[in-house]
Amino acid sequence: MTTPRVTMDLDKIEHNARTIVNLCRTRGIEVTGVTKVTCGQPDVARAMLRGGVSSIADSRLENIQRMQAAGVDTAFVMVRIPPLSAAGAVVETVDVSLNSEFGVLEALSDAAQLRDRSHDVIIMVDLGDLREGVWPDDLVSLVRAALALPGIRIMGLGTNLACFGGVVPSAENMQRLVALAVEIEQTFGLTLEWISGINSSGLELIAAGKMPARINHARIGEAILLGRETTQRKPWPDTFQDAFVIYAEILEINNKPSLPVGDRGEDAFGGLPQFEDRGVALRGLLNLGREDVDVDGLTPREPGIHIVGASSGYLIVDMTAAAEIFRIGDELSFVPNYGALLAAMTSEYVKKYPLSKDLRVDRQ
Ligand SMILES: *Cc1c(COP(=O)(O)O)cnc(C)c1O
Repeated sequence: MTTPRVTMDLDKIEHNARTIVNLCRTRGIEVTGVTKVTCGQPDVARAMLRGGVSSIADSRLENIQRMQAAGVDTAFVMVRIPPLSAAGAVVETVDVSLNSEFGVLEALSDAAQLRDRSHDVIIMVDLGDLREGVWPDDLVSLVRAALALPGIRIMGLGTNLACFGGVVPSAENMQRLVALAVEIEQTFGLTLEWISGINSSGLELIAAGKMPARINHARIGEAILLGRETTQRKPWPDTFQDAFVIYAEILEINNKPSLPVGDRGEDAFGGLPQFEDRGVALRGLLNLGREDVDVDGLTPREPGIHIVGASSGYLIVDMTAAAEIFRIGDELSFVPNYGALLAAMTSEYVKKYPLSKDLRVDRQ
C-alpha cells in the first residue's frame, strides 16, 4: 500500500460513537458528531451516524458539501461562526449554524428570505474560554434584535469551552448557560430547543451526574474519533484510541552518532535544535514530515521506536531499542493526536484509507 497513509477504522469509530451517544442519552443529551478533524470524511460521518449521532457538524462549508455530495443523508450543523460573505452558501448548505454577530444574522435572514427558506441558528455565548460567542451582558439585546429578523429561527443557545482558554465545563458555568437560556425564554416567550453546552471536554461532568438537566445537546468530535475526553486527554472508558493510524515507510537505516558533526547554525525551520549524546544510534529515515503531520503529536506503535525529529519531508526515528529488526521498505506506524490527525487529513500527500470489516470502503 502507498505511504504515507492514514487508515480510519470505521467499526471503531462507530463503536466509540455508540458509547458516547449511550452515555449522553441516559442524561437526555442529544449528540451531534463533529467531523472537522477529518475534513468532513464521508465514511467517518456515516460511521458516526451508525453509532447513533443525530446529525453531523463541521467547521467548513467545503467539508459539509463534500459529505452531501457523497450522499451522507442527515441534518448538518455549521460549528464555525459563518463569514458574512458566505451567508447565502450557509443558508443553502446547512440546516443549523452557530452565530454571535448581528450583521451575520441579518445577512442570513436576507439570504433565507431570498430563497424562501427558514434557517435555524444557535446563539453562542462566551462563558470565559474567550473564543467565539457574545459576552453574556450583550446576549439579551442580541437575541431581541435577532428575533425581529424574518427567515431565521433561534433554535438554541450554546457555548464552547476548553478550546482556546482551556476553561473546563463545570456545574457552575453550565448552570450559568441554563440560567441565560431561561432568561431568554422568559423575556421573549420562546422555547429553546437545544441548550448546547459541551464538546468532548464535558463528558466527565455528564458521567459524574453533575450536568444540569436542561443541557440537552452536545457537539462531539475528539471523544468519538480518538476516544478521549479533552480536559486531560484521558482515554474514555469503552472507546478505542487507535481508530486512526498513520503509516510511513523506512527509506534509510544507518548507524550514526546522536550528536551532529561540525559547526552548527539554524535548522531548516529556523530553530536551534538541542541534542543529547546517546552515543551511536540505529537511525531510521521515514517518508513522513512536517508537511504531512504535527510530528509532536505522533506516538509510535512499534515497541522501542523513538521519534528524534523531522523536517518537511522526513521523520527521523531512533530504532536502537526496537524489539524487531526492520529493513528498508518496512513500515512503521503511529497513533496521531488531534493536531497530528488534523494535519494528516488535510495533507494531500497522506492517502486516506477507510477500513471496515464489512468492506464498506471506498478510497479517497
Ligand atoms: C470543534 C468543535 C466542537 C467539537 O469539539 P471536540 O473537542 O472535538 O469534541 C464542538 N463545538 C464547536 C463550536 C467546535 O468548534
